[in-house]
Amino acid sequence: MKLPEKFCERMKNELKNEYESFIKSYDEAPYIALRVNTLKISSEEFKAIVDFCGENVPWCPTGFYYDGKKGNHPSSIAGLFYSQEPSAMIAAELAEVKEGDIVLDLCAAPGGKSTQLAAKLGGKGLLVSNEVNLGRAKILCENIERMGIKNAVVTNMYPEKMEKLFYEFFDKIVVDAPCSGEGMFRKDSVAVDEWSIEHTKSCAIRQLSILDSAYKMLTPGGRLVYSTCTFSKEENEEAVQKFAEKYPDISLREMHRLMPHRINGEGHFSAVFEKSGERQAKKHTPPITAKKEMIEAYRNFERENLNISLDGNFVSFGENLYLLPNEMITLDKIKCIRPGLFLGEVRKGRFVPSHHLATALKKEDFKRSIALSEDKLEAYLKGETIGYNGEKGYGVILYKEKFPVGWYKLSDGQAKNHYPKHLRKV
Ligand code: SAM
Repeated sequence: MKLPEKFCERMKNELKNEYESFIKSYDEAPYIALRVNTLKISSEEFKAIVDFCGENVPWCPTGFYYDGKKGNHPSSIAGLFYSQEPSAMIAAELAEVKEGDIVLDLCAAPGGKSTQLAAKLGGKGLLVSNEVNLGRAKILCENIERMGIKNAVVTNMYPEKMEKLFYEFFDKIVVDAPCSGEGMFRKDSVAVDEWSIEHTKSCAIRQLSILDSAYKMLTPGGRLVYSTCTFSKEENEEAVQKFAEKYPDISLREMHRLMPHRINGEGHFSAVFEKSGERQAKKHTPPITAKKEMIEAYRNFERENLNISLDGNFVSFGENLYLLPNEMITLDKIKCIRPGLFLGEVRKGRFVPSHHLATALKKEDFKRSIALSEDKLEAYLKGETIGYNGEKGYGVILYKEKFPVGWYKLSDGQAKNHYPKHLRKV
């Protein structure tokens, strides 16, 4: 692999006698891992139902090495795991998120860390998952939906625009900053082509500005994790030091450098900060509420098709109805592309459930379900109709008799396929 000369020079100076083994690691294939989605399944159960789960990733109890290429596997489609570069799993672990926390993932797409943070929240509290790039934010939404996450609000804003709105609001913040990507050279040839000393310097300036915004949004007593996938000291140790020096109430607690010649993973850096002071009670401005008729249409659907009654703040945008987590502030001035759980659309007074609602609930929450063999599941995922005699109404198709994959609607002895067209296998 052809690496930039100046990069090699710098690494040689830093690593000295370790340099040879560092450079050799670029001839090896990158490691691939998966993270079990504990919102849906435990690691033990997952390992029992698939045959591709390898060794544990040392710094992530729910992470396992595997050979990759399982994006089309039904267990992936059912949101039971997320494919993630193993080293990238460390940052969310360091955030020490617990159920009920209010968490911000400031640079979130495509969603590796957000889906990991959401699993730690266990469906309680709030995750604000922010991504500045709209195209990437849409992919983030799809991943949040696939993993069945109910309590994530996806925003599409520059960090400096968020500061005032979320001032001292978050218990935990993860800043997985855009960086020069040196740690990903083995996987990403674009990062090699774009690399220059100037680029590392401009990344460092942007990173400090993102950290400034994160500081303002962190509650006193809160925890902030900063991470990059680069080796450049300017973007790592020096950025961290400058940040801690700027804010007297910020203390640096730990730093980790994962190096590809020492561990089974790519290059990664993370630092943990704490902000001194006492956590204040959160102030909540009531969010806007949805039209009454829309809530009624949803409640009718719920009575006919579900065994549960969902709680939260109903919000609507046009025909779309969402359930916003109770902990969220008003959506005024927030560029939000997924305000919590997308329940569905109300068309001419009738409620049509969203795919997100199917992925976010458990088998026992639905009045009707059909467990399909893997062959028939393949046909369902391609959009085919399923012959079935049963009770009329909406139900879900299950993978392994337990995990919801998508909706069907039964009428006249046919289960009409409601698996989203854009997700269908071709
Ligand atoms: N955390 C993600 C994950 O685990 O899947 C990966 C995030 S990636 C390293 C960095 C992200 O920062 C990119 O999605 C990029 O679009 C976003 N970004 C770029 N410029 C930014 C800025 N000025 N402020 C915040 N985020 C930015």
